[in-house]
Amino acid sequence: MNHIAVAIDGPSGAGKSTIARTAAKKLGFIYVDTGALYRTIGLAVFRKNFDALNPNEVISVLPEINIKLKYVDNNQRVYLNDEDVSELIRTPEISLFASRVSIIAEVREFLLDMQRDIADKNNVIMDGRDIGTVILPNAKVKIFLTASDEKRAERRYLELFQKGVSTTIEEVLNDMRERDKKDSSRSLAPLKKADDAILLDTSELNLEESINTVINIIKSAEA
Ligand code: C5P
Repeated sequence: MNHIAVAIDGPSGAGKSTIARTAAKKLGFIYVDTGALYRTIGLAVFRKNFDALNPNEVISVLPEINIKLKYVDNNQRVYLNDEDVSELIRTPEISLFASRVSIIAEVREFLLDMQRDIADKNNVIMDGRDIGTVILPNAKVKIFLTASDEKRAERRYLELFQKGVSTTIEEVLNDMRERDKKDSSRSLAPLKKADDAILLDTSELNLEESINTVINIIKSAEA
């Protein structure tokens, strides 16, 4: 049976995860947050006290880790060797580790089949940086979601604040720009809009408008 795949890519803080999660719930699709996979590898490297910029150290961790995604009421939980690390991977420190390990070819290869396998077996909305370009190049719908730097930093700050993470907007903006630069300039699977992706700028849209726009794009592709 053929399943429908929706690829949503874009820079950090563009609202991808909130928009994709809600749209998936409304459409009965599974939402796959692929950033969580890179974050989990980042966490494993961090716990070893290894240098995320050193490919040999990062690669040496891969055989020791088993990552699983589970869905509870359509909510994704991520497991590192059977430990639920869904919350632990959300700190600014692990964001940076994730971005660093994601440059390494072996890391991307390690996660490739897992992502394709989920899309083979389910109707998915999958978000990340390279879903429309590399992971699911034949996705039925591709959306490149973005917003101004300031709007993205503001949203990410509020999200972290609500989770009790102590930081400032300036710090979030700087971290975000550093990650975006790394994600867009890396040679392997860089963050970029697929030629056939629809560009959606949410700077001037509220959450509900953004979600509705995404749902309408998907529905019109399904029709
Ligand atoms: O989306 P999120 O901010 O959780 O992703 C964390 C990091 O993982 C990103 O900054 C990026 O470096 C990396 N990533 C990636 N490819 C994806 C998803 C995330 O390289 N598909």
